[in-house]
Amino acid sequence: MEAKILSGKDLSAKVKEQLKQEVGSMRENGIIPGLAVIIVGDDPASRIYVNNKKKACREIGIESYEYALSEETSEAELLELVEKLNQDNKVSGILVQLPLPRHINEEKVILAICPEKDVDAFHPVNVGKIMIGKPDFLPCTPAGVMELIEESGVDVAGKECVVVGRSNIVGKPQSMLLLAKHGTVTICHSKTKNLDEVCRRADILVVAVGKPELVKGSSIKPGAVVLDVGMNRLENKKVVGDVEFSSAKEVASYITPVPGGVGPMTIAMLMKNTVKAAKLQNGK
Ligand code: NDP
Repeated sequence: MEAKILSGKDLSAKVKEQLKQEVGSMRENGIIPGLAVIIVGDDPASRIYVNNKKKACREIGIESYEYALSEETSEAELLELVEKLNQDNKVSGILVQLPLPRHINEEKVILAICPEKDVDAFHPVNVGKIMIGKPDFLPCTPAGVMELIEESGVDVAGKECVVVGRSNIVGKPQSMLLLAKHGTVTICHSKTKNLDEVCRRADILVVAVGKPELVKGSSIKPGAVVLDVGMNRLENKKVVGDVEFSSAKEVASYITPVPGGVGPMTIAMLMKNTVKAAKLQNGK
């Protein structure tokens, strides 16, 4: 039987609708969530992401403040702006769109954002809180994946979970969130031996590698839930995931499409974190 599609487009619309209502009542009580988005340079992909984030803010009722800085902006200037936004009461969350130009140290910039406004959950304080199971903010992409798994109705507890990819923004925190839900988690990376064999063990398979259609249907356990984080633009402009959708959907029980799967959920989770930041900063 063909897999059911886990639509991030539909689920993110539901999440955003709930947030819109929540923000409506917050506004009535004088709390206005605000997201500052900093973009340095004019990378076209980053521009699209920033525009999508601003659009989501508008839909929900979150104020967005864009800071579009030139490619030549110095690290010191960027750090100064972050510091100013840390102090600004209108700003509940600060997002620095990555990647930054090579002359700016990303780690230094992430460290400069005060953890209470770090809605991407990249600051070591927030990463540590995720590790000990007491997060204020969940990292957006992995949190979106968790909501999609929940939507499938499959309980993570006791399941074999395989995460392919160990980046700080997706693979590693994803593994922690699955562990927090009592999954038995295996993390794979570029040095993993027999990747296909390990993937075939998975009841829940999350792939975040950045290699078009790396995982085929033949590497998927029949009935597995498959979450494809990858977004790869091919030469013909088509966007595909890290999983070969056509063969995987013949084997999986649930699968996310690309586009329209994890991507829209990432933005919805960013909005959720911004609303949470505004609440925390107002003692709620
Ligand atoms: P990174 O490049 O930071 O990490 C990729 C990971 O994949 C690394 O851990 C790497 O291993 C591993 N890897 C590379 N090749 C292989 C291989 N052949 N077999 C097994 N593992 C391999 O990528 P990100 O985590 O930032 O992103 C991954 C993908 O997800 C990208 O396509 C990106 O565009 C997409 N993405 C999508 C988002 C969304 O909202 N939908 C958000 C963020 C990312 P090693 O550590 O050994 O090098």
